[in-house]
Amino acid sequence: MRGVSIFGATGSIGQNTIDLIKRAPDEYDVVALTGASNIAQLAADARTLNAQIAITADEAKLPALRAALDGSGIEAAAGAVAIEEAAHRPADWIMSAIVGAAGLAPGMAALTQGKTLALANKESLVCAGELLLQTARSHGAEILPVDSEHSAVFQALVGEPMEAVERIIITASGGAFRDWPIGDLAGATLDQASSHPNWDMGQRITIDSASMFNKAMEVIETREFFGVDPDMIEVLIHPQSMIHALVGFNDGALMAHVGPADMRHAIGYALHHPARRTLPVERLDLAAIGTFEFRAPDDIRWPALRIAREVMARGGLAGAVFNAAKETALDGFIAGHLKFTQMSDVVASTLEHMDASGGHIDATMTLDNVLHTDHLARQAAWQAIKTCQG
Ligand code: NDP
Ligand code: MG
Repeated sequence: MRGVSIFGATGSIGQNTIDLIKRAPDEYDVVALTGASNIAQLAADARTLNAQIAITADEAKLPALRAALDGSGIEAAAGAVAIEEAAHRPADWIMSAIVGAAGLAPGMAALTQGKTLALANKESLVCAGELLLQTARSHGAEILPVDSEHSAVFQALVGEPMEAVERIIITASGGAFRDWPIGDLAGATLDQASSHPNWDMGQRITIDSASMFNKAMEVIETREFFGVDPDMIEVLIHPQSMIHALVGFNDGALMAHVGPADMRHAIGYALHHPARRTLPVERLDLAAIGTFEFRAPDDIRWPALRIAREVMARGGLAGAVFNAAKETALDGFIAGHLKFTQMSDVVASTLEHMDASGGHIDATMTLDNVLHTDHLARQAAWQAIKTCQG
């Protein structure tokens, strides 16, 4: 039996992971499941999978979790510290699928076990890539990518020498507004930004896809995970979301990863790695699909892509500032304080402010420094939101 923990079990990635685990219940011993607001789902899954412990991030919800688990013998706990502690519980395979920078500390804790971390939480690589990879190396742990583009690159690189790689192309659907007149973007509503043409994902990443902040994060994620030069990373708009990434080699070959827009493929690849096992995803009928389209990305429609390049050039803790500002701007948009197009203004001005004030971006990359910089950047971003509101 493999010990498995799922951080962010109640979310979109978490539920897709649970779908795969439930199909082979005899193979897995479920250790910890974590959630935040969705206590009913957390408790139901903990019971079905007979988890050792269920933890909610929200301390006020502990009584409700305890009540929902009553009589099951499953432990209940609450709060960020309890989540981090649960990441130390022995498990062979740990899914990191909490949304946002809140996933960083549990992911770091999980790596100290020296086992496998399946990483969906791209924010941890953007905030503290070097720290995360160094922690994995020093504890002999393996990180497997779950983000579809990075899983695709990882698969295209199997058996290939990194020295032969010339470029990595990650694709983007273009999100909800790819065909909108640019002048209409400022009036985009929360509902409009929350629906994705191809993927069924959590609300935050869906809005990030419309603004292209998701792809901006993924460019940085590519740089951190594969250790390539930023100039080698390209973004390509591909509205069908079936080619997830391509790797270009020095002999002119492009190895493309093609598959359905179903996260259970990338999750399943990370779950069974290095084996490939049958997965319950659609088999593509290319003749029926007929055409794959490609377009160049547009920095005017999506300033996030340009900002990501600046963040990589700046280095240090600029990624932590970028992520915190992006998360805060997104909170501002969701709460109705910001127009859709103002999110990138807030992120750009927060980066400028944090670069000009104090040496936070140049601080050594430790978990404490990253979390402190994240905190300061969120405060600066709220100030920027107030300025936008006039
Ligand atoms: P969801 O919003 O669907 O789920 C997020 C999960 O995190 C839920 O379990 C949620 O609990 C929990 N959570 C929320 N806030 C906190 C907190 N402060 N502390 C601890 N847990 C918290 O997100 P997704 O599943 O879409 O995304 C998860 C991660 O995977 C993100 O980093 C995202 O970028 C990445 N990813 C997602 C993809 C997708 O297809 N969805 C694709 C590629 C990457 P609750 O729901 O109970 O409140
Ligand atoms: Mg992705």
